Amino acid sequence: MGKTALVLGEQLGADNPALVGADRILLIESTGAMRKRRYHRARLHIVLSAMRHRAADFRAEGREVVEVRRAAAFEPELAGMGDLVCMEPENPKWAARLASLGVELLPSNAFLADTQDFNDWATGKKRVTMEHFYRGMRKTHGLLLDSTGGPEGGKWNLDAENRRPPAKGLTAPDSWMPTEDEVDADVRRDLDALVSDGLQTWGADGPREFAVTAAEAEAALSDFLSNRLPEFGPWQDAMVTGERTLFHARLSVPLNLGLLNPLDVVQRVEAEYRAGRVPLQSAEGFIRQVIGWREFVRGMYRFRSEEWESDNGLEAKTPLPAVFYGSGRTDWNCLQDTIDTVRDTGYAHHIERLMVLGNSMLLLGVKPDEALDWFRESFVDAADWVMAPNVIGMGIHADGGVMMTKPYAAGGNYMSKMSQHCKGCRYDPKKRVGEDACPLTAMYWSFLARNREKFAGNHRMALALKNLDRISPDDMLGIQEVASRASAGLKGA
Ligand SMILES: Cc1cc2nc3c(=O)[nH]c(=O)nc-3n(C[C@H](O)[C@H](O)[C@H](O)COP(=O)(O)OP(=O)(O)OC[C@H]3O[C@@H](n4cnc5c(N)ncnc54)[C@H](O)[C@@H]3O)c2cc1C
Ligand code: SF4
Repeated sequence: MGKTALVLGEQLGADNPALVGADRILLIESTGAMRKRRYHRARLHIVLSAMRHRAADFRAEGREVVEVRRAAAFEPELAGMGDLVCMEPENPKWAARLASLGVELLPSNAFLADTQDFNDWATGKKRVTMEHFYRGMRKTHGLLLDSTGGPEGGKWNLDAENRRPPAKGLTAPDSWMPTEDEVDADVRRDLDALVSDGLQTWGADGPREFAVTAAEAEAALSDFLSNRLPEFGPWQDAMVTGERTLFHARLSVPLNLGLLNPLDVVQRVEAEYRAGRVPLQSAEGFIRQVIGWREFVRGMYRFRSEEWESDNGLEAKTPLPAVFYGSGRTDWNCLQDTIDTVRDTGYAHHIERLMVLGNSMLLLGVKPDEALDWFRESFVDAADWVMAPNVIGMGIHADGGVMMTKPYAAGGNYMSKMSQHCKGCRYDPKKRVGEDACPLTAMYWSFLARNREKFAGNHRMALALKNLDRISPDDMLGIQEVASRASAGLKGA
């Protein structure tokens, strides 16, 4: 039989080491896995479309391909395939399962930072910070350095210049969109058939919006470099109604499928800066996302391994309201607009994920496993390695502060500064008591009061707790009333 390369859905790149010397390539579409959760239609479409396009590309290269569709289970499909080899998947449980089935696992080359090096760096440290890690990555890969080996422009971090609230009338050029083909039509037909056969999904089955082949990934990257990267930095935290992408890259899908090499991406971003086409604040801001946040998140996922799944540092107990799955509607403009975006596309940009979706779940006290499941199911770019640290750590602070020294908790003040959501909302972001009090504002104070003891020794929370102490008992009663009403309203929406 010779050697068979098992290629998983997140390993579709040309430099997957399992492909070297393989006699054939095996791609398995497991309906068993699809049935485990209630995935967004767009997410299922992306994964199937990417795998099928890749299979067609392999065939065009003259390689023997075994494609298994509608596999009820994964294991039986491995039988009779000779010696199986696969690039090690990021999920340790999944890797152990493949190893126990006799699949030879090869070290992953999907990330720039080596897992062992990351673990050695993180082990024994009282606190690991992304900033420290990121500076090391800039030096290791020679990115945005000046002639002395220091940071280009004299500063490692240009975040302070990159937090502009949305300017009036701010718009961005449309982002690249793929043209669907026969493969997509097949995927859509097959998903319809699976749904008729009981598969549970949620979200719109709109046209595919993200790159799923190497050629499409290149087109999406070129479009971003020319049209949106120059303005990426200053507006990266802004939320503009009707601008679902703004200046973001929409490259997480092809990056996570293995179709783009992260080092190539950031080197091309640096080249744009060196050619004078992009300001430093945008180049640095973007490079930080890819070699800083993306690699740090993956390193932390592997470092803490399965601990993420049992984290509940804030003892959160609230079930996730069904409104997150598009069932019913809430009158919180910020949350409803963002849920609508996710429902329609399976995408939201970083600040919407963190400061609207994550923040609402944090303030509500949503159970970590339910929060994690929702994010896993709902986003086109979801993967275990990226979800756990982002949701459990950054989004809802359930990891006891391992990822972030303080929770990303915010009320209406933040939302009205950084977004346009509050303008059309029936609530007043400045009010924390009364009929038109902003639910987020009241819940922010209620959250602090509920977790007061837990944050007492955290110097980064000192100012927030001091402000909490200034609230009169009468106001606090009013705040708790608004917060309870808001929480109950969301559950019953
Ligand atoms: C609660 C929450 C859930 C998230 N879930 C996912 C997810 O399922 N999949 C995913 O890829 N990213 C996730 N992120 C990170 C980030 O929001 C997305 O990578 C980004 O929004 C993707 O859109 P973009 O390509 O337009 O990104 P841009 O804003 O243009 O950023 C460029 C690239 O940087 C990388 N990046 C930036 N921030 C992060 C980060 N915190 N973690 C990992 N990579 C990062 C991504 O590869 C992204 O494509 C999550 C963040 C939060 C707070
Ligand atoms: S007023 Fe409050 S609920 Fe309404 S959009 Fe603003 S932050 Fe959201």
